[in-house]
Amino acid sequence: MKDDMGGNAETDCCADGHHGPALKLEDALERILAEVEPVSGTETVPLTEALGRVLGADVVSHIDVPAHTNSAMDGYAVRGDDLLPDTETRLDVIGVAAAGRPFEDIVAAGQCVRILTGAPLPEGADTVVMQEQVTRDDDTATIRPGQAHGQHVRQAGEDIAAGEVALAAGVPLMPAELGMLASVGVTEVSVRRRPRVAFFSTGDELRVVGEPLEKGQIYDSNRYTIQGMLTRIGVESIDMGVVRDNRSDVEEAFARAAEQADAVVTSGGVSVGDADYVQVTLDKMGSVGFWKVAIKPGRPLAFGRIGDALFFGLPGNPVSAMVTFYQLVRTALRALAGMPDEGPPLTLTAVSSGALRKKPGRREFQRGVLTRNADGQLQVRRAGHQGSGVLSSMNAANCFIVLAEDAGPVSAGDEVTVQPFSTFV
Ligand code: AMP
Ligand code: MG
Repeated sequence: MKDDMGGNAETDCCADGHHGPALKLEDALERILAEVEPVSGTETVPLTEALGRVLGADVVSHIDVPAHTNSAMDGYAVRGDDLLPDTETRLDVIGVAAAGRPFEDIVAAGQCVRILTGAPLPEGADTVVMQEQVTRDDDTATIRPGQAHGQHVRQAGEDIAAGEVALAAGVPLMPAELGMLASVGVTEVSVRRRPRVAFFSTGDELRVVGEPLEKGQIYDSNRYTIQGMLTRIGVESIDMGVVRDNRSDVEEAFARAAEQADAVVTSGGVSVGDADYVQVTLDKMGSVGFWKVAIKPGRPLAFGRIGDALFFGLPGNPVSAMVTFYQLVRTALRALAGMPDEGPPLTLTAVSSGALRKKPGRREFQRGVLTRNADGQLQVRRAGHQGSGVLSSMNAANCFIVLAEDAGPVSAGDEVTVQPFSTFV
């Protein structure tokens, strides 16, 4: 990590010895992304295991898709030149073409073929008349006037032509991409190696689920939300469990994590309390990008590097950990995986159904429930108690209500910006 990553001692000097004002979210993201190089290396996987992976090389189609010129409708395949523009046209029906069962003969002048959707267009025919425009009487088809030459025909290669790049390297493979790869006949694909992300929780108070709770202890919930969020991105996660609040355990965990992972995500221990060893250890063993981002919840958030691994130290409070992950870490890990930058999260404007507390200073990500009222208007209400430790607010919510740094309180009826969870969760 470059030397200039450390905060500079301008203003807002803080008690923990790390100087520099809290960064604006966009500036923090820019500083993180400047440090991210996509992982290198590819592997070959069967198409059935490629969902969510990033294509490692261009896939060139060796065939036309569709492979043959075919009918887009159920109807009759005709020669366009036979059709009379202003009066009915009578043609002899000489056979049937169905999908997978082509008609092998030639359609001559005055003739037509009954054709079903997807059937190859017989030689001689160049136009399809939909069956609703035709009266059939034994072997005669009577076609209404007003048909267009060449209509309802799908040309061979109109989706992908042989020799064309069907999908370019770097494309994330979603359901539509799997279908595209199958349609060009691919059975296995080259994909980028998945980033390895080691994660652990820090805290003397944490117990692992399954163990009994003693006085003063809580269950470690962050490791499960973090693993879920990592899995959703599609990275390989390495669960390193719970690490106690002491210098040697944190140092040992840092070393072990950085050795095997491309990125390390921790929760807890980044505030300025006596037992917060993540900060001091990162200072000692790695390099520090920044400590503070001007968002709520979510300050402090540590970003830096341990050896070659990127380091993200999330706050311990469960909602803060999720907000910082979604607003910063997710984008960074997608970039590490070689996925294209989606740009800023998609937002909608909704009317706040109640008043919202907000002090100017930090950008807030309040948890909200977005609905559409009877008039079709988007409305959002607060999803319960907004404390950064109250995970049930995330359970109840389906969006973040994003309140700008300089914004003050919101009144009922005001318009606010929301980020629907469905776009990134
Ligand atoms: P810290 O950032 O370590 O000061 O922790 C802030 C708050 O989050 C404290 O109340 C911790 O008990 C709580 N916390 C820290 N880590 C976790 C975790 N893994 N799961 C649930 N709560 C946690
Ligand atoms: Mg702690």
